[in-house]
Amino acid sequence: MAKKGATRDRALARANEPPLIKRAEFVTSVFDPAHLPEATLAEVAFAGRSNVGKSSLLNRLLGRHNLVKVSSRPGFTQGLNFFLVNDSIYFVDMPGYGFAKAPKSVIKKWQRLAEHYLEQRQTLKGVVCILDIRRRPDRLDLGMLEYLRAIGRKAWVVLNKADKVSQPKIKARLNEICPLLPDGCRQPFIISARTGKGVQGLLETIMNELDAGD
Ligand code: GDP
Repeated sequence: MAKKGATRDRALARANEPPLIKRAEFVTSVFDPAHLPEATLAEVAFAGRSNVGKSSLLNRLLGRHNLVKVSSRPGFTQGLNFFLVNDSIYFVDMPGYGFAKAPKSVIKKWQRLAEHYLEQRQTLKGVVCILDIRRRPDRLDLGMLEYLRAIGRKAWVVLNKADKVSQPKIKARLNEICPLLPDGCRQPFIISARTGKGVQGLLETIMNELDAGD
């Protein structure tokens, strides 16, 4: 009972706080490293397998239903899409990986762009790595996390589609997934881009770490 009351009080306190994101707008899509916007603002990138719910999560975070295209066709996002948040941060939607039907030449081009961005971008503060809570992370997911660790990039690991897993099974999913993650990965965030569960907590953590300059 006391726990329910505390949860309600926290929810009420949050409802009275000013929203963390006051303004969000699409700025540009970049297909070539030469066309990246000037590196003046802190950036947070979003990465994940096609269809994991990356666009849905971005729309949720940005508080806009259609700012980012949610695709019924996986592999839709081919460039780096820059969204200006609160006039002070860029959220960067990266191309979804693991789209089997994409031609090899297209995949190579995405890889070059993504690697250039992740390795060279000085204003990039970290990458939100989205996994599907129902699936065992595969070679591509784990490869991305290992790669980020190897190049010294911070990763916020997010398990999406938690609305599809019953509360008692969430712990079992964590027990299966966490041991597979590279050393040094922090506890994943459990979220649902569809219902909004956990999304505010993720946003608060990201914003706090950016503020703290972590
Ligand atoms: P992207 O390819 O990673 O950008 O994925 P999208 O955001 O386009 O989502 C792919 C599909 O998954 C769409 O049908 C979404 O409605 C669905 N989806 C995204 N997030 C969630 C979620 O949290 N729960 C459920 N049940 N479906 C989701």
